[in-house]
Parts: sequence; C-alpha cells; structure tokens
Amino acid sequence: MSPYQTVRGMRDFLPQEARRMRTVEHVTRKLAQLFCYDEVITPVVESYELLAAKSGEEIRKRMYAFEDLGGRHIGLRPEFTASVARLIATKMRNTPQPIRLFCVGSLYRYDEPQYGRFREFWQANYELIGSDKPEADAEILILTFELMNQLGLQHHWLKIGHVGIIRGILDQEDIATPKQNTIMQLLDKKQQDQALATVREFGASQTCLTTLKALLATRGKDPSSILDRVEKHVEIYESAINAVQNLREIVALVKESDPTLEMIIEAGFARGLEYYTGMIFEPYVPDLDIALSGGGRYDKLIELFGGESTPAVGVAQGIDRLALATKEQKTTPWLQAKRRVAVIPISEDLRAKTLELALTLRRQGLPVEVEVKGRTVSKALQDSGRKGATHAVLVGTEELKTQQVVLRNMKNRTQDIVKLANLHARILEA
Ligand code: AMP
Repeated sequence: MSPYQTVRGMRDFLPQEARRMRTVEHVTRKLAQLFCYDEVITPVVESYELLAAKSGEEIRKRMYAFEDLGGRHIGLRPEFTASVARLIATKMRNTPQPIRLFCVGSLYRYDEPQYGRFREFWQANYELIGSDKPEADAEILILTFELMNQLGLQHHWLKIGHVGIIRGILDQEDIATPKQNTIMQLLDKKQQDQALATVREFGASQTCLTTLKALLATRGKDPSSILDRVEKHVEIYESAINAVQNLREIVALVKESDPTLEMIIEAGFARGLEYYTGMIFEPYVPDLDIALSGGGRYDKLIELFGGESTPAVGVAQGIDRLALATKEQKTTPWLQAKRRVAVIPISEDLRAKTLELALTLRRQGLPVEVEVKGRTVSKALQDSGRKGATHAVLVGTEELKTQQVVLRNMKNRTQDIVKLANLHARILEA
C-alpha cells in the first residue's frame, strides 16, 4: 500500500465522477454560448492584495496565501469575480458595454471539509457588466434556472433577496459599512439572534430592531404578496423601499418570462461576499440542504479595482454541488456514451489491422477501445463488457479475406458477419 494520500480537502475524481463533473461543465459552457457569454481565462494565482481587496472577511481568512520564490505575496483564487473586475478595470476598459463574460475553473478555500464543501472546487461564472437595469438581473436569474433545467434537475427553486433592504435600514440608522458587514455575515451564517444582538450593540433604535425582526420572519413563495409585506415593514426606511421596488421589478420580469420559475423571497437573506449591492440569490433542490450556486448584483466592485463606476450582476454556479444534485436525483443518462466499441484481434498477426480499423471507426465518430493485452477473445470480451462496451468487433483472418469482420452486439449477445464497408452503419443501427 502506498503511503501517499490526497491532502485533506483535496479530491481525486475517478472516471465516473470525473465524467459527471465534466458533463456539468460542458452544459455550463453550452449555456454560455446560448446566452452569448464569451469565455475568458484568468490565472489561478493572483496577487494577495487583489484577492483580499473585497472578498469579505470569511473568505479572506480562508485563503491559500503564500510567498512565491520571488517574494511576492500571492494567493490561489477563492473566487472569480475579483479577477473579472481586474480585467474590466484594466484590459477591457475600452470594450463596449454591456460585456457578458464566462469563466470556468478551480478555486481554493481553506474551508472545513464536509458534504458539498471542499478545499478545491469548481465554478462556472457568468458576469453581465455595464447595466443597472432589472432586465440584467432577470437575465442572470433566468440563466441559472435554465442551467438547472438543462442538467435535468426535476424540482428546483431560487431563493432571492436584496441586500439593499437591510443595508438601507442600517444606513438610515447611521451604522457604518464595516459594522454592517459584521451583521450581514452573522445573517449569512443563520445566526439571527446574534445578528440582532449586534445591531442593538451598535446603537440602533428600537424601531430598527422591531423592523429587522419582522423582516427576518418574512419569506415565502408568492413574490408579490411577500414583497407587499416587506414594504410595509420598512415603510419609514426610504432606501429600503427603493430596494424592495427594484426587487419587485426583477421578479416580475422573471415570472413573465417563465411562469414555471419557482422563487422563494426571503427578506433577511444575506450572502458571505461583501461586495453585493442589490439583488442576491441562490438555487436549491429538495435533495440537498446547501446552495448549489450563488449570485447577485455588485455595482461598486469594478471602481474599487480602479475602473470606472460600472454596474454589474453575476452568478457563480457551483459545479461540484450541481454534480451532487444530479447524482441525488439520478439524472445521469447523459453520462454514458451511447455506443462504445471494443475491437479485438483474433490472433497476434492482426494487431496492425485492428489498430487501423479502430482508427477508421474513431474517425467516423465512435469511441473505440482496442485489445492491447493479447488476451483470448473470451477474456477480452468479458473485460469490454465490464467496461460498458455496447459492441465488439472481432478481427479474424478468414473474414478479412472477404473484407468482413464479426460484429457482436454485447447487450443481446448476438453476432453477425458484416462487410467492413457497412460496419459503421451497422453499429449505429443497434
Ligand atoms: P460563493 O462564491 O461563496 O458565492 O459560492 C458560490 C457557489 O460556489 C456555492 O453555492 C457553491 O456551489 C460553490 N462553493 C463555494 N465554496 C465551496 C466549497 N468550499 N466547496 C464546494 N463548493 C463551493
């Protein structure tokens, strides 16, 4: 037994799981094309300052940060948004907006490993930059809903909130942003009593506490009646009312575009990242009690990285958790190639012919595995069956004399002699 193991929180993906992850990634890429998000590739390693600038205390504390051999303070990216904001503030400064960008890859956070939480994980990121209109927020919500549909997930919904509701109240109570961040973090961790105690500690009024308490209990499926209730709760807080109004427009647009899109509005919903300024959301499925992805509006981030003031909205789709959701819901038909062909020489002198035939079939688009261990036909067939071959082609001297081979259907266990010219078509038939 080898003494080498993976490092805590890091994973190997064996073929089945790797295929599942890559399939989810493939679907996210297809979706990027359908929604016209252009891919950019940014480095895994960025300067510590960039990564730490605006991620939020929680993520900062968990960064893989170190000095490289040149003495630079660097980190492994814990999220994509900082890199994208850097791009927009520098190399894409003059690109006409709106800009739609897609990026996909691995991220690193020193999180405590648990179900659905790892130290290396993958995200597909979609950022829509340069519009502050509700239709931009709606597009990101619709895109996320569509991803879940295209992955074949049966029952799923979006939990939606707006950071402007609670921040609007706290602003009016003269509670400064760093203190607001502390409160939002507690809410994100579902520590509501602690959050309220902290608000009191920061000197908020009794009305504020009563309002927040009411808001934290306001959630539900019917957006317009929930938002009516929220609006009533915040009636003396002007910018909170604007936030509710903004959210109302966004959800109305989404609902009209697709009435099947299920939403749960949650007034006290907060997300860990500090840079959100507007609508925030997370998708869920009943089988997993964790958010599959996370997103929202961040209108101040790009100027913080030295760019022009630029509104933006985006989403980070969690590939690992989406893959887990497909596993829980057993939506796996797309994981297996429909056909897989084993090509087996009957004798050693037919190895070259076997390789040639395998290449021909691959060039015709079929996945082909060649027998390379010199085993007997029955042993090779047994092994191919185990690996999921749907067809086997037996290459024998006698048949080859008349340009033929034996084609075996592994499922029905039937076999036929087939002309080489017809082989591809015959494999596609069954
Ligand atoms: P965030 O970047 O924190 O907004 O998270 C967005 C999504 O990334 C989450 O909903 C998860 O799907 C995924 N994610 C974040 N952290 C982890 C982690 N430690 N392990 C696996 N997935 C993660």
